[in-house]
Amino acid sequence: MSAAERELVATACRILAGAGQDDLIWGHASVRDPEGRGVWIKSAEWSLAEITPDRVHLMDPDGAVLAGEGARHSDYPVHTGIMMARPDAGAVVHTHPPFSVALAATGQELRPISHAANFFVPPAVPRFTDTADLILTRDLGRSVAATLGDVPALFLVNHGIVTVGSTLEEATVAAVLLERACHQQLLTASAGGCPPGRRRRSRCASGSTSTAGAPSPRCGLTSCVSCPCEAVGRWPRSRAIRGVPGGVDSTPGMA
Ligand SMILES: [Zn+2]
Repeated sequence: MSAAERELVATACRILAGAGQDDLIWGHASVRDPEGRGVWIKSAEWSLAEITPDRVHLMDPDGAVLAGEGARHSDYPVHTGIMMARPDAGAVVHTHPPFSVALAATGQELRPISHAANFFVPPAVPRFTDTADLILTRDLGRSVAATLGDVPALFLVNHGIVTVGSTLEEATVAAVLLERACHQQLLTASAGGCPPGRRRRSRCASGSTSTAGAPSPRCGLTSCVSCPCEAVGRWPRSRAIRGVPGGVDSTPGMA
């Protein structure tokens, strides 16, 4: 059976890399060992694109490598914590895809504005905020699993994503779909759209106050948690326009 699991994990890693989810040597995928010994997981020190079957190893729930060569990823508790808490989870993916990380960092929820997003929403995609660092302990692994609950995906805020599936094929497709959904939402917001969802009365940067769900009389945008005008209003002007063509960066010492 080990050859099949090695091949499966290697293929999933290369698919994730092809989908733009490689991040140097970080990110990993795993599948539950059918004999109950632990998980088959990508080994460390290689990018997702570089993973071949001989770079996948079997690891027990305590992180001991039972079969295979190479160093293990230190944040393996992401996988083992979820596998222990979710008997239905046959596989776990953890990556750092840029649009998912960016959307989660804004504090916005994923909105059901695309087919990809509707794979997840509703309910809301949970947000893990205990730490933005690596998930290095069994306690943190259990905490990630508790935050995930019984849904297929989780944002590790300021870090990455976790997806699960009954199979590694499912978990891999979920990771690809979540990144696509986040990309589409950010594209919508960048074009001035405002994804439907939680609306609230708010004051935009122009100083006008819009009614819930109605266009602001000053900026013309529908006011909600993702209103770009409102977002600009939360930052000093020099930071809000950093990097924008034609903008002026007057913040001293901020390269
Ligand atoms: Zn990570």
